[in-house]
Amino acid sequence: MTSLGPLFWFAAVQFGVYALGWAACSLWVTEERPAAAYCALFSLLVAVGFALVSYRTGPTGWLTHAGSNIVLVAGFSALRRASERFMRLPSSPTETLIVLVVSSGAIALLGLSSELAWLRTIVCFAVVAFLVTRTALAALAPIRAEFGDRFALLAMVPAGGLVVGIAVRIAQQLADRNVPLEIHGDSSSNFGLLVVYIVLTGIFTFVVMGMLLRRVLKGVRELSLQDSLTGLPNRRAYDARMAQEWNRFRRSGAPYNLLAIDLDHFKQINDTYGHAVGDHVLVQVAKALQSGARKNDLVVRLGGEEFAVLLTDQSSERARDAAERIRRLIASTSFDTPGLTVTASIGLATADAADVDAARVLERADSALYRAKSEGRNCVCVA
Ligand code: GH3
Ligand code: MG
Ligand code: MG
Repeated sequence: MTSLGPLFWFAAVQFGVYALGWAACSLWVTEERPAAAYCALFSLLVAVGFALVSYRTGPTGWLTHAGSNIVLVAGFSALRRASERFMRLPSSPTETLIVLVVSSGAIALLGLSSELAWLRTIVCFAVVAFLVTRTALAALAPIRAEFGDRFALLAMVPAGGLVVGIAVRIAQQLADRNVPLEIHGDSSSNFGLLVVYIVLTGIFTFVVMGMLLRRVLKGVRELSLQDSLTGLPNRRAYDARMAQEWNRFRRSGAPYNLLAIDLDHFKQINDTYGHAVGDHVLVQVAKALQSGARKNDLVVRLGGEEFAVLLTDQSSERARDAAERIRRLIASTSFDTPGLTVTASIGLATADAADVDAARVLERADSALYRAKSEGRNCVCVA
């Protein structure tokens, strides 16, 4: 063991812990299992690589020298696969495999000769730099698009730092072939490089964990705002959007219109045709409502066979026309079930300064809806 031995052990333990973390992540976060599993493999191989390096005692030793180089190259190949799986990039298993096999073969052969240690070192460094560069370039644009510039920068700084560090080492090695610039050599530059490497890869690991967490949270948030049957925004999404719309109305004074829609005799449809047909009707009605709404309108399923449509930027007269159009649209929708027609009753309310809050507007739309029910259904009533 050289005097840097304890530092290599520290790095090995650090990556071993990361490997355990990623393994747990691949077990628990099933959506990202392949990427997390490849990250676990990367961390494990780097840990093994550092552990082997810590046993280097001199210029030779096939397993501790060439062996650790090969394990390191395999680790960075796994990192590339992890990135491809995580960012949903087209995968390049053949290229990665060819690079891995050819470079491992070369390192294994060069490892037999201590005179060629300098060349083996260069091959290992160059392949790692190549894999990191290919990975970073392929992932940069998708990371920016999904996670924004800050995450892209945080992910690219460690990658760039590693590649620059490696390039400097290769240049130094080419300048002086007599002394192999292997990482275990007792020197302050090796110590510095190792510390920088430990810090950068630590940052990188937490940045990737952060991205994964953000993606999972975004998925959960989207699901929590979506109705599972129709895919429409649900009541929670409605409440959030209406709070915004209400504030906008209070500031600008420009009112919005709200339609409360309830399917007529829906229980009878369920009883006559079955629950599955009832579900199909709800899905088709949701599609019809969306096709009838404009881009900035909000169509939601409030629950059961009740829907709401928020109409923005239009007068109450135009909103009344829109309600009438929607009522006709539902009545003319076909459901692949002979004899089945569906109608809806609609209540329309326009936000008013006398309303105390957004909930009050919906209450008035609901009252108008019940009037539509009592006036014979399949019609529009205005609050
Ligand atoms: P009205 O014209 O007065 O509105 O009568 P209705 O039968 O539509 O009203 P009611 O509130 O009595 O019945 C609503 C029915 O909607 C009862 C419930 O079983 C059904 N329902 C609620 N959610 C779902 C769903 O997700 N799928 C299906 N198939 N039916 C649902
Ligand atoms: Mg109802
Ligand atoms: Mg109903």
